[in-house]
Amino acid sequence: MSVFENIEKRLKEIADSANISSEELKSLLTFKRIKKEKLNVDGKIYESWRIVHSDALGPSKGGIRFHPNVNEDEVKSLAFWMSLKNSLAGLPYGGAKGGIKLNPKELSEKELEKISREYVNAFQDVLGQDIDIPAPDVYTNPQIMAWMLDEFEKIKGRHEPGFITGKPLEVGGCEIRGDSTSKGGFIIFKELIEKFNLKNAKIAIQGFGNAGGNMAKFLYENNYKVVAVSDSKGGIYNQNGLDIEKIRKIKNEKGSVTEYDAEKISNEALLELNVDVLILAALENQITEKNADKVKAKYIIELANGPISSDADKILHEKGIIVVPDILANSGGVVGSYFEWVQNRTGGIFTVDYIEKQFEKRMKDTFQKVNDRFEQNKRKYSMRQIAYMLAIERIITAEKLRGRIKR
Ligand code: NAD
Repeated sequence: MSVFENIEKRLKEIADSANISSEELKSLLTFKRIKKEKLNVDGKIYESWRIVHSDALGPSKGGIRFHPNVNEDEVKSLAFWMSLKNSLAGLPYGGAKGGIKLNPKELSEKELEKISREYVNAFQDVLGQDIDIPAPDVYTNPQIMAWMLDEFEKIKGRHEPGFITGKPLEVGGCEIRGDSTSKGGFIIFKELIEKFNLKNAKIAIQGFGNAGGNMAKFLYENNYKVVAVSDSKGGIYNQNGLDIEKIRKIKNEKGSVTEYDAEKISNEALLELNVDVLILAALENQITEKNADKVKAKYIIELANGPISSDADKILHEKGIIVVPDILANSGGVVGSYFEWVQNRTGGIFTVDYIEKQFEKRMKDTFQKVNDRFEQNKRKYSMRQIAYMLAIERIITAEKLRGRIKR
């Protein structure tokens, strides 16, 4: 089943239990804009997309992914999740996503710069601070955001730093954005620890990039026990806890966590470890109906987008495993982006302290909102179903107020 087919299946199930009419469901499954371009850079062609799922709550917002597996189904799915994530966090944004099908590891810095600039050239008419606002995602970073900003401002002949977020500080970035996904994930993790009284939890993390690597760092600095981590080359395990500071250094120098001296495990084995909390911070569809039954963790935090398939969701829920869904757990990224955009539009009026407090409050409030409804329903629905219901309610209300669907 494709990633978007998974979404359709989940939505239909939710529609049945949350009184969503067929017109409302149709509107949720309809995309506002699907734009596809073939970028021609130095004679090579790169397929690329910018897809807007919804603009009911405001300009659309979502990252740009560089990956060899990028395809329309994936970008649509990611755009859909951005709509829900932005809605759930109470942000004034719709949802969008972009991507270029390429392998950044095979390209020079100069080639990446040219491709990034060409992407902006191809999509500049549908981007802008009040239209659709990109940000980093898998294998895109602040440098790429800076090239894209520069290209956009050159085309438009004016400064518009709010056109893109996740920028370096010197060109309008915000202090909290760099690691805001994992910072938000860590705030959610602490809420979970408190709610379920999980002292001395053993934690495993799949993925060691911006999201997973920084999450590991926050956990380690705060004396939580991370017993396993992995990246695309494989995983490492030590039941007494790993030295994350050393592993980060080794990953920076040698390119993989597997260079660290510890027991080697496969990515599949990491997912099945006997731990308390499993943090998924790599790619989609990592837990499916094939391995869901083998998962032993009692709690899962989805820092990645869509790492669990809809069939696996059911199996995990029946096993009593609590999953904190992506649209809640990794929303720190877009909440951080939101504050960057606000700073860009106000000329940087807020102090870092103020933004950090607002950020923490937003993450905690969103967790509480989901948790309250989860408990009110006596855990009949999974946390994901509750988060979807809350997010959908806000989008549908906005669509009705705009007169686009019947009241
Ligand atoms: P990244 O490129 O910085 O890191 C990805 C990590 O996953 C790398 O360590 C890579 O080696 C690892 N990986 C790739 N394939 C793997 C596999 N099969 N098994 C184990 N590890 C594997 O990307 P990121 O920004 O950390 O994004 C990771 C996930 O988090 C994605 O789903 C992304 O959409 C999501 N996310 C990121 C942000 C953000 O701000 N960075 C925000 C929200 C959601």
